[in-house]
Amino acid sequence: MSEDVNPFESLQSQIDDAAAFLDVGDDVIERLKHPERVLETNLTIERDDGTLERFTAFRSQFNGDRGPYKGGIRYHPGVSRDEVKALSGWMTYKTAIVDIPLGGGKGGIAIDPDDYSEAELERLTRSFAKELRPLIGEDRDVPAPDVNTGQREMNWIKDTYESLENTTEPGVITGKALDSGGSEGRVEATGRSTVIAAREAFDYLDTDLEGATVAVQGYGNAGWIAAKLIDEMGASVVAASDSSGGIYNPDGFDPVAAKDYKNETGSVVGYEESEQKLTNEDVLTLDVDLLIPAALENAIDADLAEDVEADVISEAANGPLTPKADEVLEEKDVFVIPDILANAGGVTVSYFEWVQNRQRFYWSEERVNEELETVIVDAFDALVDTYERHDLENPRTAAYVVAIQRVADAFAEAGSWP
Ligand code: GLU
Repeated sequence: MSEDVNPFESLQSQIDDAAAFLDVGDDVIERLKHPERVLETNLTIERDDGTLERFTAFRSQFNGDRGPYKGGIRYHPGVSRDEVKALSGWMTYKTAIVDIPLGGGKGGIAIDPDDYSEAELERLTRSFAKELRPLIGEDRDVPAPDVNTGQREMNWIKDTYESLENTTEPGVITGKALDSGGSEGRVEATGRSTVIAAREAFDYLDTDLEGATVAVQGYGNAGWIAAKLIDEMGASVVAASDSSGGIYNPDGFDPVAAKDYKNETGSVVGYEESEQKLTNEDVLTLDVDLLIPAALENAIDADLAEDVEADVISEAANGPLTPKADEVLEEKDVFVIPDILANAGGVTVSYFEWVQNRQRFYWSEERVNEELETVIVDAFDALVDTYERHDLENPRTAAYVVAIQRVADAFAEAGSWP
């Protein structure tokens, strides 16, 4: 990485790029560039050997003008105050571009969960839930999974919250297991929106998705589901990578079998249908029709962007391009479907889960997927409308113009108090 990129500065520069096309005062833009509040807490838990260990955890509540704060909780050594601030801002504009009545938040604990037992992670998660308790609630702030967290952690948080509050409130958190009030289709939702958005982009650009070649960087929940679904749409997945490296077969391979291989061995590397081993960077610079970055922030910087050969990028990860990489790709006419739209399926089905929890009435998977399809297609149409109306060069700027306007309108309608 040649650039030293702070994701919070990336968020602010994305907002500045859009502000030029908005009829929103600088004073309001200034408000929309900063979180409303950030909790920083130190959690001390007992290790299995009886010693104590301290961890730093955060929850950033970026904006609640359109509804309760909403966003995941990640467990990763790279978690920092600025990272959660950025991610909470991206959530704010993500819920706005897909027009669901929620705000933006994000949390995290600086930890590598692989180094801890399940019992230790449960103590840590419940300890975080205790700190979060006054801040969260189905009408206040609704956390969800993110990197290295899933149904197990969500169930622990729900149980801790409900026990302390002496209530039943499944809508306090989303991404739960089905038996604990989760929604059908939630696990697949991020990958699903990534490919719906890609399909819409191919259609908009008048190119064929059938037979198109696809590279996927990151083979976790978002990446591998995107690979599976795009394969089902007739595209050919030719490359994939995870933290151990990448694989390539120009004739394409079965993305589900590659996932099974990863489940057995810990990595896609070595999967028999692949012809070549590649580095993570090689996967990002292959000559493919569609690139899906599905790992972490800043995967593509300006130098790497110079070598990107994909025609379309659908961002399954949050913040995978640095602002300078974005500029390079704009120059090269790469159509980038921004994270706040491409990966918004996760939070959209979280919203459906929250609606179902509140109504105590649960939908079929078919209904969830149909409603998700409508939300993502509508958001893509809103993006394209603004992209064309302002004659913009970068679809990300168009997405921010739509999203910031919606948040600013909600703020203006509420008025400021005191
Ligand atoms: N962590 C996911 C995201 O970044 C989902 C958030 C949610 O469901 O609230 O969009």
